[in-house]
Order: sequence, then C-alpha cells, then structure tokens
Amino acid sequence: MIHSNISIFVPHLGCPHACSFCNQRIISGKTEIPHGEDVTRLLSEQTERITDSERRKNTEIAFFGGSFTAIDREYRRELLSAAFPFTETGGGCFKGIRFSTRPDCIDGEILEEAKGFGVTAIELGAQSMSDRVLEMNERGHSAEDVRLASAMIREFGFELGLQMMVGLYGSTETDEYHTMTEIIKLRPDTARIYPVSVLRGTKLAELYKSGEYVLYPFEKAVNICGVIYCAFTSAGIRVIRMGLHAEDGVEDNAVAGFYHPSFGEIVRSDIVKNVILKYYMSEKKDSFPIEICANSRLIGAVYGHKKSNRIYFEEKGIPVEISIDNNLKDNEISINKEVQNVFKIT
Ligand code: SF4
Repeated sequence: MIHSNISIFVPHLGCPHACSFCNQRIISGKTEIPHGEDVTRLLSEQTERITDSERRKNTEIAFFGGSFTAIDREYRRELLSAAFPFTETGGGCFKGIRFSTRPDCIDGEILEEAKGFGVTAIELGAQSMSDRVLEMNERGHSAEDVRLASAMIREFGFELGLQMMVGLYGSTETDEYHTMTEIIKLRPDTARIYPVSVLRGTKLAELYKSGEYVLYPFEKAVNICGVIYCAFTSAGIRVIRMGLHAEDGVEDNAVAGFYHPSFGEIVRSDIVKNVILKYYMSEKKDSFPIEICANSRLIGAVYGHKKSNRIYFEEKGIPVEISIDNNLKDNEISINKEVQNVFKIT
C-alpha cells in the first residue's frame, strides 16, 4: 500500500534563518497561518473522505513548510493537540504525524513532546554535509548537527527522513557525492532529493543575477540525482520525493534552477537510458534491434519523458524496439531477453 500524507503548511513561522535558497512563503504557496481549528476541520474532512482502512493506516498528518520545532512552543502544541486525536495513538485512524525541521532545532525535550503527540516520523533538512557549502548558503548549522540530530531521532524510535539539495551555491559534484555518502551512513528511512530552484527574492537569486552562482546544466543535475537515487535505494533508503511539488508556486517564482513538474520521472528515465546505453556499449550486444521490455508502470521511463529516450536512441542511430511485458517487476527491464534491475525498490 502506498504511503500518503495529509499536508498542512506552516509557512516560514519562527525560523530565525534566511537560507540562501529559501523563500518559504513561496514554497508553501500560502501565507495564511493555520490554527488548531483549521487542522481539526481539515482532518475531519479527510477522515470522511478516506474510508479505506488500509489507506488510513498508511496516511500521516504532515506539518511541512517551515522549521516546525522552531516555531513558538504554544502554537506548535496547539497544532499538535489538534492533530493528535486523529492519530492511531490518539484514538484516531491515521498512522501518525510527521514534520520537517532544522537539524539544530532538535533536542530531548522536543522529541519527548513529539512522542506524546503521536509523531511517527521526523525529517531533517540536511541539504549538504559539507560545512563549507552549508556556510556559503547561510544555513546556520553544521554537518555535525545533522549527525547528532539524526542519532537522537533514531534513539527515540522515530522514522528518520533526510532531505538533501543538489546544486547549491559553492557545491561541486564531489560535494554532492560526499553528502550522498554521509547521508547513507546515517541510515535514514526516507530521503528527499531536491535539485535547487532559484526563487525570486532569495540570496541565490542575487548571486545568480550577479553571475557569481553558476548552475550545473540541467542534464548534469538529472544525472547526479540519478546516481544519488540509485545509491539511496540500494542502501535501503526510500526516496519519497525528487524535485519540488508542482503546487508550490515555484513555477511562477523560479528565476533559474532545476524545477520541473516531472523531475522524478525525468531522473528515472535517465537511469533507464544509461542502463540501455551501457548494454549497447558492452560486448554483450549481439543482435539488433535491441529489444527492450518493461512492465506497463515502467514503460514510460523506457520511452523517456515526452519520448526523450526514444528520440535520443534514434538520433544516435541505436536501433531499439520497445514493448510491454507485465511479467517484469517495477524495477526491471529486459534487454534482448536479459533481465536487469534498473534500480532497487525499497
Ligand atoms: S531553515 Fe528552512 S524554513 Fe528556515 S530559512 Fe532555511 S530553509 Fe527556510
């Protein structure tokens, strides 16, 4: 059963920072501040709407948008108190509560409070594990803060999520893979990979305008995210998101960067393309056209976003024949009848 969230945005409240990339009011797409009664209303509606018991068990109430544990304690408790009766531990039907926050806004008291309110998962905005990159992007915390907070979250028995960004100011490809490796060492349950979007009104936008911040080409960002996606999933980490959400108002406010509504699909297509290319370049190719099969859920990634892979192979003169084989698993393609895993399913 697929996991789902009921998202409640808490825009930019209480966060004492202004990270280079963040304009939280734009990211959340909202400026209104939710109160306890709004949370109760929303969750009552969702309880009526989601009737399937299995689906309810896999649904979490998610406070996203700002740094949840940095907001005023009374206000935070107002939101948690409103959500708690809808969680399984509070006698309700949903799995629990998840929230995202900064690594330096976690301590024992906050984690005790979270336990008491039926919180099940905590996500940390790690963004980078290079102190130099963190400093250049004015994050105000260190890589060590991420390690310490992650260890505490795990000790308290919460599901741990880590978020990383690709293409930050000052970040090289080596830094991206260093962050990837360090995140794997922390053994999070889930990860989000966010390629940078340069939003109007942020420091990144100024640096970009002045020419001081130069972004990777889009294809390179896709490629790096693909490598990270495969490494995370191989390590048993569930990648729950690649790229910002479409509804986040980013489209209208991004002045540059890697925002694309189908970013995850583009990355998965790129991974599949590279597997096919590797086969083509290897000694194994013995017959043409290369016959590629995938099940109906993965076949789109074989064709590529807007048929990009098909077009690529045509332009390179690589003859391919693509067809559906629903005997294959969601992460498998067969190339000339040889089944290959394109990534791991977690
Ligand atoms: S800590 Fe989070 S909410 Fe605060 S400025 Fe940075 S990215 Fe935005």
